[in-house]
Amino acid sequence: PVVTRFAPSPTGFLHIGGARTALFNWLFARHHGGKFLLRIEDTDRARSTEEAVAAIFDGLEWLGVSGDEPAVFQFERTPRHAEVANQLLEAGHAYRCYATPEELAELREQQRAAKQPMRYDGRWRDRAPEDAPEGAPFVIRIKAPRQGETVIEDAVQGRVVVQNAELDDMILLRSDGTPTYMLAVVVDDHDMGVTHVIRGDDHLNNAFRQLSIIKAMGWEEPIYAHIPLIHGSDGAKLSKRHGALGVDAYRDEMGMLPEAVLNYLLRLGWGHGDEEIIPIARAIDLFDIGGVGRSPSRFDIKKLENLNGHYIREADDARLAALVAPRIEKRLEIAISDTNLSLLTEAMASLKPRAKNLNEIAEGAEFLFKSCPLDFDEKATALLDDSARALLDKTADALQSVQSWTVEAIEDVIRRVAEDADLGLGKVAQPLRAALTGRTTSPGIFDVLFLLGKEGSLERLADAGH
Ligand code: GLU
Repeated sequence: PVVTRFAPSPTGFLHIGGARTALFNWLFARHHGGKFLLRIEDTDRARSTEEAVAAIFDGLEWLGVSGDEPAVFQFERTPRHAEVANQLLEAGHAYRCYATPEELAELREQQRAAKQPMRYDGRWRDRAPEDAPEGAPFVIRIKAPRQGETVIEDAVQGRVVVQNAELDDMILLRSDGTPTYMLAVVVDDHDMGVTHVIRGDDHLNNAFRQLSIIKAMGWEEPIYAHIPLIHGSDGAKLSKRHGALGVDAYRDEMGMLPEAVLNYLLRLGWGHGDEEIIPIARAIDLFDIGGVGRSPSRFDIKKLENLNGHYIREADDARLAALVAPRIEKRLEIAISDTNLSLLTEAMASLKPRAKNLNEIAEGAEFLFKSCPLDFDEKATALLDDSARALLDKTADALQSVQSWTVEAIEDVIRRVAEDADLGLGKVAQPLRAALTGRTTSPGIFDVLFLLGKEGSLERLADAGH
């Protein structure tokens, strides 16, 4: 059975690249009816934080790609890592190294001067145990193969070969008994039964070193799939200035829907023909590692916004209203009652067609919840001149006569007002919109009137007419 994992280090937010790695692992597991596990790599005690752990859980949950079992916390497994290091020691696949920091610094200096690659020279590799200085601190190092080559048949990168002479005897266990990252990853992946390691290609070099531990333990090698990193629109590695924000920023600040972010992340580095809109169920059907491209993908915020607009139009109105209400509450510093939440739900049909994010919906809906007299923006004020005011009075009179307040009845009346004044509909709609919303952009004018209700509309017209 397929077992994949996402293994973030909780040292910052869950960024967009990490979320994509999680998604690919999750999809691969779902596609094959397997399991997706989460491991928090918190061995760097100084840099790992509770908030970062919470942000990872929160972000994955929002996207709907949480682990299938409670997360494994790597730091808690330190004793197990040490146990494996000692097993390797006993089996002769690892050795104690007593080289002092000064000695190693000197070695590096010599290598630098000779322009040689800097790596540990194996000076304790074949020393007799009697040579060990009594009571002195030591690290445990792997006895890496020196001849031959190590080959990885990577599911994305293809066949990748490294000469073993280039691999040094890396440290497994530090002198204080803590495991190194290389050891911890290998032991945890093995113990968690991970069959496929899908991660960023910045880890490809590590894979060769990790393999030497796996081979020394006689464990089964996982299948590796190293995914090209995400780049910014300018081709440079994705960074903050490209919009490489935490997943929470896409949700909170940018007003994205999780299904849009998922669809976007899926298409970022993976493709199926030129299908752009791929809802999650279809993604599970289609996903395979073979569809992951070998070149870095470019982050394109416009594409994400377009997808978000698509999913907003598809989304249920009550759900959207619930997501938008808190944004309006914050912007206007008001509380939205249940009645107003229903009104907002009703308004969604006219608000969502053009919106690219939840903030735009909130902005478009604001007029419904502002109290009269409105704050008119500059453009709206400019529209409300004397002739416009006269027109508004006529419109108000005509609307007064509407018995049943429906969009159709409203439309009839407004069209009649325009005809009587010998004006195009737009010429009537513009000042009307300004008077009713305080702005020059809004949903369709008949919808605006309908949603405000007869009383609300007339109150605003009376107010703006004077
Ligand atoms: N903890 C590593 C990282 O955050 C990932 C390790 C792995 O996937 O093997 O980059």
